[in-house]
Amino acid sequence: MSSVETAPERAPQRPAAFGLTAETLYDKCVALARNLWWSWHAEVINLFRDLDPIRWRQLDHNPIALLSEFTPERLEMRASELVLYSRINQAYRRLKEYLTETPAWGRTHSGVLGSMPVAYFSLEFGVHESVPIYSGGLGVLSGDHIKSASGLGVPLVAVGLFYDQGYFKQHLDINGWQSEEYLDTKVENLPMEPALGADGKPITVRIDTRTGKLLAKVWLMRVGRVRLYLLDCDVPGNSPEDRELTARLYGGDNRTRVRQELVAGVGGIRALRALGITPGVYHLNEGHSAFATLEAIRMRMKDDGVSFDAALREVAQHTVFTTHTPVPAGHDRFDRNLIEEHLGPLRDELGISTEQLMGMGRVEPQNEHETFCMTVLGLKLSRKANAVSSLHGHVTRRMWAHLWPWRVEEEIPIGHITNGVHIESWLAWQMQQLYDRYFPANWMRRMGEPDVWQTIFEIDPGELWETHYALKNLLLAFVRRRVSRQCRRRGESDEAVEAARNILDPNILTIGFARRFATYKRATMILGDLDRLAAMVNDPQRPLQIIFAGKAHPADEPGKQLIQRIANLRHDPRFANRIAFVEDYDINVCRHLIQGVDVWLNNPRRPLEASGTSGQKAVLNGALNLSVLDGWWAEAYDGANGFAIGKGASHVDDRVTDARDSADLYRTLCEEVIPLYYDHDVDGLPRNWIKRMMNSISSLAWRFSAARMVADYVRHTYLPASGGLSCDMSVK
Ligand SMILES: *Cc1c(COP(=O)(O)O)cnc(C)c1O
Repeated sequence: MSSVETAPERAPQRPAAFGLTAETLYDKCVALARNLWWSWHAEVINLFRDLDPIRWRQLDHNPIALLSEFTPERLEMRASELVLYSRINQAYRRLKEYLTETPAWGRTHSGVLGSMPVAYFSLEFGVHESVPIYSGGLGVLSGDHIKSASGLGVPLVAVGLFYDQGYFKQHLDINGWQSEEYLDTKVENLPMEPALGADGKPITVRIDTRTGKLLAKVWLMRVGRVRLYLLDCDVPGNSPEDRELTARLYGGDNRTRVRQELVAGVGGIRALRALGITPGVYHLNEGHSAFATLEAIRMRMKDDGVSFDAALREVAQHTVFTTHTPVPAGHDRFDRNLIEEHLGPLRDELGISTEQLMGMGRVEPQNEHETFCMTVLGLKLSRKANAVSSLHGHVTRRMWAHLWPWRVEEEIPIGHITNGVHIESWLAWQMQQLYDRYFPANWMRRMGEPDVWQTIFEIDPGELWETHYALKNLLLAFVRRRVSRQCRRRGESDEAVEAARNILDPNILTIGFARRFATYKRATMILGDLDRLAAMVNDPQRPLQIIFAGKAHPADEPGKQLIQRIANLRHDPRFANRIAFVEDYDINVCRHLIQGVDVWLNNPRRPLEASGTSGQKAVLNGALNLSVLDGWWAEAYDGANGFAIGKGASHVDDRVTDARDSADLYRTLCEEVIPLYYDHDVDGLPRNWIKRMMNSISSLAWRFSAARMVADYVRHTYLPASGGLSCDMSVK
């Protein structure tokens, strides 16, 4: 890094050399910051970070907020100090090229979608931590889906809601109890702009209900080549209460929920129409947005004068539905009053009765005791539905079998496409550098090919281990920084803050566990036998340490109790240095964890984990999964690419299942994981462990990538759905 003193001398020559003035340099940075493409390109992230590493961290890695603190002149100066000109230019050129080219894959495989793109609906999108409109796995999946669609060149637009307070920030108080804080997001610091209609004016959509109208404006967010449209009810014509309607994700009661879903589904379709976009396929990611189908039916009827029945059949032919929830209680249900209040005016235009409409959301259409279920609407109004892993497919078919009482399980039109993760977003930069040196030159474009990943075996084991070790040290530094900050915030003593700076040890087997604290995920299973765990954690030869993170839903008291139990282990001297809880789990925390741990632990009560994706992120970076055979792991584990807890059995009595899984967890740890990790050769390398890391990467990275997932959606759902009526599906 050159010193500040020399900068003024050098600064004047450089812009000339690159044909730049300070303003265009600044403009290029702004252009980079305003397309979330930067968020999966390490060289651009590093560029922003280098501008001001401390502010970068403090601002949640938000480049727009960072740039707003720079004048063009100061940016210019900083750029010349750090010799950033060519890096900025190169990044800008790459973005421009990216936005103008159509990737070969998209041209060949999804070109027919062309001017009638897929409209992908989701109520949350997790693209980057600086854009807080997601809560967890569902949102991150949506984010990874659209990033991969962008990468493959699949014609797709995305539709969701803009929450100006997003999901809550988690803090633990001195007793380890979770509190929730909602912060207003500064819209001017987000990469959004008002979406413009054909007339060049910002769009507002209007939805009439029986009790008044709802208005929503529409934002455009650019995610590579994909446009993400976000509806926002904070507009002047709405009542003060309705202006808050889209303030929070999963906030409020059932009425708030139905209104949000009305805006996303019905409002979303109207927004697309106002934008001049005619989708060829509707993809409902989870039932939340299923009202979209009703509005699409209304439009068909109005545009071409077709009957309700015909329009319904057509819309269903073009709709694909992904369900994520293997527990009946997890599906949104609304009573008749809420449905009539909110869908009444639309129902009038459809020309159907309340009973008919209710029937579309019921398993038994005539059953007056049944509420309106969004998943049922999604299942009935789609040509084909899919679950998100093979096992989840079985569970889902069984769960909804009564919708098709005349069919055997295999004939139920619910398939599965297993989730995957966006590799560029989750692979550590350091690991990517290593892969770059060994893998075929264009491997980032061929990530879905198994052969590419076989190259992992050519990497020098010592080098792979060193890279992992470096990432582990970065994780530990991150955890120490966070935990000491947490202590300070709670008002703990200086000694406690100082002690937190020294917890954990890079030479100890490190287990990570981070996810939503829903009780079925059994976060405290590893604490089942605390004395035994204490002995394992403090074993003089082969110790163990664990890093936890995760939020409980604000209304989930049992979930909060689990967090409290873990957080309070820091008062137990046996665990104080070896077990850490990192507050406020988000994409950033997740990224650090999955890139740095040795083992990624997952022990849900089978079969309640529909897929899970965090373990797939861990794979890319060489962490080994230690998991119950549930969700994606049930189809991924082959005996040598990670570790299994149990044999995939579950008992009708949860207590029996829990006890058995707990015993299996300890057994696998003691008999397999710990011995393998500490089995070092003469060079001090855990050869067999490294071998297993390579097995894991080679057998899993491509299969559980979002590129593979999106390609599957294209082949198995989007293309058939875009063909519409000519396909063989019957309306259910
Ligand atoms: C990937 C991710 C998840 C989903 O992980 P699971 O394995 O489904 O728990 C949840 N939250 C965040 C922040 C993530 O990045």
